[in-house]
Amino acid sequence: MTISVRRTAALAAVAALSAALAACGGGTGTPDAGGRARMGASAAPSAPASASPSAAGSATPPPGPGSSPPATPQAGAPGKAPTMAPGPGGLTPVFDRAKQHTDKTVALTFDADMTSDQGPRAAGGERFDNPQLISTLRTLKVPSTVFMTGRWAEEYPDQAKSIGTDPNFEIANHSYSHHAFKSPCYGLPTLDEAAARADVDRAFEAFRKAGAVNTVPYFRFPGGCYDDQALRAISTAKVTAVQWDVVSGDAFAKDPDAVAEQVLSGVKPGSVVVMHCTRSAAPVTEEAIRKIVPELRKRGYRFVKVSDLIGK
Ligand SMILES: [Zn+2]
Repeated sequence: MTISVRRTAALAAVAALSAALAACGGGTGTPDAGGRARMGASAAPSAPASASPSAAGSATPPPGPGSSPPATPQAGAPGKAPTMAPGPGGLTPVFDRAKQHTDKTVALTFDADMTSDQGPRAAGGERFDNPQLISTLRTLKVPSTVFMTGRWAEEYPDQAKSIGTDPNFEIANHSYSHHAFKSPCYGLPTLDEAAARADVDRAFEAFRKAGAVNTVPYFRFPGGCYDDQALRAISTAKVTAVQWDVVSGDAFAKDPDAVAEQVLSGVKPGSVVVMHCTRSAAPVTEEAIRKIVPELRKRGYRFVKVSDLIGK
């Protein structure tokens, strides 16, 4: 009886863990998690046409050489980067792939997840960071976009600064709390409209405090869960919401070859790949990257940041 109860409890714990990871953005800890996250990517039924990725052509181009010199980057404030025009009614635009691209460019994105209530777990030794992954991306010279939660930047300020001052990277906003901006979303606690807007600001503030300067006005909804109400709630933040078209399946993966295979079979010109920068929930990502990068280069692909996809 005791064993049975323990087993049930253990299974419940695993289920909760899988749900939390799936909520990290494109997780495939459970067979349907990726599908549900993908649904989130396209489940904005009344999303305006201009909010579709094909509207990337209307992106505001970066300042040309003849324009006034850029201001000195200010730590934490979202820097100058191309954004998409808002949808009708000012809705936050959504980008998931540069579909107009015919050249072989691909953006690897890494969600640096930490939920606001995970402090005790970090204090207990659980690692939500992945310095080896960042190091490998530097060594392989893979420009990358890190979608960081504000809570992660608070837990690892030195790494946030290091990533946020390295031109190889750009830091985008993955909320402060990693709570849901739409309900339901993998069991995550849901923020109301006012809290949602404040949560975005609080993450940029955490990047600023850490000393990050390479921040960009892009936002990834926790779990990829959003609807028109969520897009409206954060519209005054003037960010572009960034989803993905390739789920890496690195969430709780044990086999780096399987992750690499899934990415390699999914990448198309202009793709955005979602992966994770947290050893706790994505332990084989670094190893998968060492397989993915040379193979995609062999196939003629060039790695770019999300800002390069949106700005082109
Ligand atoms: Zn996430």
